[in-house]
Amino acid sequence: MLANRRVKIVATIGPATSSYENLENAIRSGMNVARLNFSHGTHQDHLEVIRNIRSLSQKLLAPVTILQDLQGPKIRVGNLKEGSVYLKEGAEVILSPSIQLGEGNEIPTDFKELPEVVQKGDRILLDDGLLELRVKSISGERVHAEVIYGGELKNRKGMNLPGIPLPVECLTEKDLKDLEFGLLQKVDYVALSFVRRGADIRKLRSLIEERNPATKIVAKIEMLEALDNLNEIVSLSDGVMVARGDLAVETGQAQLPQVQKRIIGLANHLKKPVITATQMLDSMVENPRPTRAEITDVANAVLDGSDALMLSAESASGKYPFKCIQTMHEISIEVEKEGRYFYDIDFEGEGGVPETVAASACLSAKRLNASTIICLTSTGKTATLISSFRPKARIIAATSKVEVLNRLELAWGIQTFGIQSYKTSDEAMEQIATLLLKYGLAKKGDKVVLTLGLPVLAGAKTNTVRIYELSETGSSLGNCSSVIPLRCQTYADPV
Ligand code: PGA
Ligand code: MN
Repeated sequence: MLANRRVKIVATIGPATSSYENLENAIRSGMNVARLNFSHGTHQDHLEVIRNIRSLSQKLLAPVTILQDLQGPKIRVGNLKEGSVYLKEGAEVILSPSIQLGEGNEIPTDFKELPEVVQKGDRILLDDGLLELRVKSISGERVHAEVIYGGELKNRKGMNLPGIPLPVECLTEKDLKDLEFGLLQKVDYVALSFVRRGADIRKLRSLIEERNPATKIVAKIEMLEALDNLNEIVSLSDGVMVARGDLAVETGQAQLPQVQKRIIGLANHLKKPVITATQMLDSMVENPRPTRAEITDVANAVLDGSDALMLSAESASGKYPFKCIQTMHEISIEVEKEGRYFYDIDFEGEGGVPETVAASACLSAKRLNASTIICLTSTGKTATLISSFRPKARIIAATSKVEVLNRLELAWGIQTFGIQSYKTSDEAMEQIATLLLKYGLAKKGDKVVLTLGLPVLAGAKTNTVRIYELSETGSSLGNCSSVIPLRCQTYADPV
């Protein structure tokens, strides 16, 4: 069942997945997080997707995190008359913000300051670094460059200027408008592209606080400057993305694997969910099967400690979006059978009450060989902390708040139960035990560890660890709905 996979799957929504039927297929195939890429599409398009996902979550009893990905100050080439041009190695091209429509060797860009920030000898990379130019001279608004690595350049592809500090704000005018839309729609997470320093996150946080404080922040790490300020950025964020597309261009390709491990390691240490992104199953955009290298990349990203793995073009515009999700699912489940690499880590360390309760719960579960850790939570905070210890026991977060159920889908290993409000811990436990047994997630006689805040009626923050044996409770099996949530069903729907 889908509920058994610990690492989560983020699928970017695009033409291949945006219809109601295809969103349903994506969720049934195992998508936990839907990424809405605001580099593309209108607000109307995104609104429809958000409404469809929210209604499918209710229909399938499958919470989904909605991640709004803001474009950020991505610099791009402009529109080309034929839709694309072929850049020949050794040829000279002219890049300029004053060109309206590209043709021949003239390429437009929306980056107005380009002629001011580049110098002779600088490298300009296009389309995630597939094409490379070297600046020869600058005359007025026109940048003359030689094609070092050529190929087909399509409309509006991205441009990178590795190592050159860019005179741009992290949140562009477009981002601010998109953010306002996203917060109005109560997206669960906002991802900020091209973050460079902690101040970028603080700025975003203050805008979120004003409008919808429940929305959380993912910092996309894809700039050299961000690596210099990594600790501060990760500490201030609620989650991180290893945005390998732009990151590899910035760091140089050979550095990428180590940088990936460094970012994931720090996010794990600071107990923030981390997404590994870009080209994980790239060849499946065209083909029904991944390459051996891709299979291994997915597996290694799980072993590195990712909370979630991301599909980009594979699910947005590829030929086999659902197969990609299933493929990630299969590889992850297989890796997770071999637990010694990443389960039950690091209960030591410091922290306040929530960290201590979370660590105690994990340690108790390990010592008692408990099958499940149940977390009664109203914000999801304790559940996320428990997840960061990567316990071998199943993690169930139970809450009556739909937004918390949705948001927790991003974090490693967390499964959620929507429960009725309760007056005592025994009352809550009775509901949860009933569900665990009914869905086959645990069995009578299992020890389970519960975290909660006492007194319940005062709405206290998490401060308690309790241990139950499932035979003690869950006797009144009548008290819950007969519908089984999608991820607890034992069959996978054919797609
Ligand atoms: P993007 O971010 O797809 O929005 O560019 C991810 C990446 O750069 O890897
Ligand atoms: Mn990027």
